[in-house]
Order: sequence, then C-alpha cells, then structure tokens
Amino acid sequence: MKQYNAYDNMLAVLEAAADKLGLNPNDYEAVKYPERELKVAVPIKMDNGRIRIFEGYRVQHSSSRGPCKGGIRYHPEVDIDEVKALAAWMSLKCAVVDIPYGGAKGAVKVDPAELSRGELERLTRRFTAMILPLIGPEKDIPAPDINTNAEIMGWIMDTYSMFKGYSVPGVVTGKPLDIGGSLGRQEATGRGVSIITAEALRYLHIEGKNIAIQGMGNVGSVTAKLLHEAGCRIIAVSDVSGGCYNKEGIDVEGILRHLASRSKTLEGYSEPGMETISNEELLSLGCDVLIPCALQNQITAQNAGGVRARLIVEGANGPTTVEADSILAEKGIPVIPDILANAGGVVVSYFEWVQNIQNLMWDEAQINDTLKKIMIRGFNRVLDFVREKNVSFRIAANMLALQKLSAAKTTRGVFP
Ligand code: GLU
Repeated sequence: MKQYNAYDNMLAVLEAAADKLGLNPNDYEAVKYPERELKVAVPIKMDNGRIRIFEGYRVQHSSSRGPCKGGIRYHPEVDIDEVKALAAWMSLKCAVVDIPYGGAKGAVKVDPAELSRGELERLTRRFTAMILPLIGPEKDIPAPDINTNAEIMGWIMDTYSMFKGYSVPGVVTGKPLDIGGSLGRQEATGRGVSIITAEALRYLHIEGKNIAIQGMGNVGSVTAKLLHEAGCRIIAVSDVSGGCYNKEGIDVEGILRHLASRSKTLEGYSEPGMETISNEELLSLGCDVLIPCALQNQITAQNAGGVRARLIVEGANGPTTVEADSILAEKGIPVIPDILANAGGVVVSYFEWVQNIQNLMWDEAQINDTLKKIMIRGFNRVLDFVREKNVSFRIAANMLALQKLSAAKTTRGVFP
C-alpha cells in the first residue's frame, strides 16, 4: 500500500485544477513549492530537570497575495510534508474566501498531553523565539490549530513583544480577548462549517438533517453546537477515545458539558439510548452529512467504499485522500472541501488582525455577519466553477484559488 503523503495529495489536486484551468506551467510552477521552510530543535528543561529536544517547523508557502498566515499545531506524529501541505492549503484557503493573505503553517512534534502546563509554556516560548525571524504582523501571523489554543497564542504574543520591547498584538491571532483577541474567533471555524453545510444542503436539495461528526476538538464541538441549535440532529460524534451514536440524536449540551468539565475526551460519556461506536464505524454510518473535523487522511481508499453519507463537509484540513475522492465521486457523494468549508477560522483571524493593526474593536454581531457574507460569497464563487466547468467542489475550489494565486504572481512578476 502506498504510504500517505499530505504534500503529494495537495499537489495531485493542484495539478488537476491547473489542467482544468488550462494554465501554462510557468503560471503556477512556483505554487508547487513553499517559499521558505524552517526546521528548529527546541530544547526544554522538563520539570524533572532533564533536557528534552522537540522538533519544530514553520513553513511559509506563499506571500504573493499578502502576509503568510496559518496555525501552529502540536502533535506527536507531525512531519515536514504535513506542514508543507497545510501551509499550501492556507494559501489556497485565503484565496478561496478572498482575504489578503498568503499561507503558512507551523508545528511542534510533541504530545502536549504529556507536558505539564509549565513545560508547555516553556516549549511555546522557546519555539516562538526560534521562529522569531520569520514571524511578524506584516510578514507571517500564526494562529491556533490542533492542540493549541488562545492561552498558547497569548504566550506567543508576549514572547514576541518581549523581544520587540513593546506590545505587538497583531503578531498572532486567536489570542485571549483581554490582550487583543477578537470576539467570535474561538467559534469561527465551526461557525463557518455550519454556514457552508447549510448552503450545501440547500443547493443539493438534501432535506434530511442527520449529522455525524468525527472529532470533538474546537471545530467539531462548535459545529455540533451550532448545527444542533439550527435544528439538525447530531446522531454521532467521535474523538480519539471512540464514538457515541444515538439514532434519536445525541444530547449535544450533555456532551459539551462532559468535554468541558471531565476528561476533554468523550471517554466515560453515556446517555440513554446511546451506543458506543468506533471512529471507523462513524465514518460508515448512514447519515445526511458526515463532517470530519479531526486529522488529515481519515477517508481513504480503504474505507471510502463504505461511506453512506449523502454529503461530506470537511471541517478538518485534508481528511480525504485523492483516491478516496474518486471513490466518493463514483458513489455520487459530493465533498465540500476543507479550503472552503473550514475557512471561517482564518476569516475571523483576519478580522482580529485588522482590529489589532488599527487599534479598534468590532462587536460580535458585525463579526458574525461579515463572516457569513464572506463564507457565502466563497461558496457561490466555487459553485460558479462547479457549474461552468462541470467539476467537483474540490477541483472548483482549487481552480478558483489557483487562478487568484497565479494572477497575483504574474502581476508581481519574478524578481530580479
Ligand atoms: N488553523 C486554522 C486553519 O487551518 C486557522 C488558521 C488561522 O487563523 O490563521 O485554517
């Protein structure tokens, strides 16, 4: 079996989109490569006095359309190809929703659950110091991603500001509210996913509203909450510890309370009428919408044949492989791709950064309304390509993004 490589996956889709656009290789050759890659070895004094070294990365894929932008994830299995792919997806995502950013991504190869709070803070501050030459509000702006949160963004902001000698809130987004974070940012990705799900259901004339969600981190849990509030029935959710299925609908408030107060995972959760299922079983449940909100490489050639959802909306980055995409297409299951569906996070990051560099604050209604407008505009632009070129949503979104990226590159020209 071919080893999964996120970067190859990204390139295969990009090539297909370039081909459909009829682009000349010169127009998009540069998009196939990240502009810069930095790999760092981050030493941390552990609580027991031992020094441990963690590998970290910051990859800037493109700055053609604006400063590089993208999250930082902490995960024990992350590697450079994954970070390169995630950085490229950020460039494409920002182009799809037409915000003036390029793309970047960072990561530290670590399981943060094994660290104390002090170790996590030291790791974050030292990693920030080591990528400091690359980041800044005018060149590369990190944000939360898997296993990172507002508190960690606050440490990044403080570390950067200490080096500069004054507060620089615009160096990072997804910060706590009291140091320049934005209202609505924490919920933004899930809010975007629920907006796009509603648009897709309407466009595809799917009446049913039974939803299965893989992943109960920030994106999955907010998506579950908002879709539940909008009248959908969340029939199944899962995370690293396993899954819960209730054909009458999961008690979403109960699950969210459990996640907030107990273990941060679904472990130990139960409710009347609920069955315990595995992650694999969740992916093959009969439902109207399957929303993968965990990691990349979840719907693959091995399990795509068993998917019984009528629609897939990608809350995670890269959850579906190229091979799985073809199987789903044969089965007639539309997939709303990550670079459109989960763009809400970076859209509100953009609002946060704009507020920071202008020293002003927007109210939450203004943020949520503008987010909705931008998400629906992105959906409709992707839809234009779907209709005109008779392609999948994924190829359409990549065509739209690639057209914008290559236009920016062509306009700027090649230095020197
Ligand atoms: N990590 C999020 C993403 O993958 C948000 C990035 C950002 O806000 O810069 O889209």
